[in-house]
Amino acid sequence: MTKEEFQTAFKPIADGLFGKQGGRGYERPHFDVRPLGDMLADLADIPPEEWYGYAFSREPLNGKFDDVQRRGWMEQSLACGREYATKICDKYQTKDPRELAKAMSMDVSFPEFPEKTDRVLFAEFRVPNKICIYMDAVKKAEKLFESPGVLEVLTRELDVSRLLLSHELFHWVEEQYHEEIFTKTEKIRLWSLGFLHNDSNIIALGEIAAMGFAQEITGIGYSPYLMDVFLVYGYSPEEASGLYEEMMELAGRKIEL
Ligand SMILES: [Zn+2]
Repeated sequence: MTKEEFQTAFKPIADGLFGKQGGRGYERPHFDVRPLGDMLADLADIPPEEWYGYAFSREPLNGKFDDVQRRGWMEQSLACGREYATKICDKYQTKDPRELAKAMSMDVSFPEFPEKTDRVLFAEFRVPNKICIYMDAVKKAEKLFESPGVLEVLTRELDVSRLLLSHELFHWVEEQYHEEIFTKTEKIRLWSLGFLHNDSNIIALGEIAAMGFAQEITGIGYSPYLMDVFLVYGYSPEEASGLYEEMMELAGRKIEL
């Protein structure tokens, strides 16, 4: 993928993020660009457990759930991620995600852009043991540390590529412990008929737990979900501002105009 392809690939993805309101022929809403530091300060103020609205907004089965379930799963999945962070760090005697990756024989690479143009990703895990961290996004984010107020909120504790790597490592951990780990064993019954039934995993649980895992390993004091705004901002401040508004609304927070 070239730089130009990556830029254009971004647009339909961002469209998808806000596509809930419309179908074909609908015009994307425009958002006022907000200062990055202000947005991050507001988002860092939302406790990790209160991100359930946003965390489930990308879940295909979300329409079947209510907020009591979402909140319950949010708490359980975060706890699961944190528990496995402690377990894995104890097992390998390190809290450094790069050392962990090495000890777990992961094949980690740092290409500039994803190979395929169908989705925009900042990092990805592929079974059995491949992790890619896309450096164009990381470098753009690193430059944004110089924007007013950003470092104060994100702190020097944040190393973007380590955070992304930690998140992806959890997906490998999930595979290793799939018979017992909460994010894989918890299922929802989609239908049952006599002795027949169809149970499904809930994708959001693994994503939430990966955030809990990454937060525990990196020691940052805020939810890693705010990285979505931070990383998108490097490509489109307007899309990032729209994403911020959505996150604030889903967390029941007031937005200052
Ligand atoms: Zn993930």
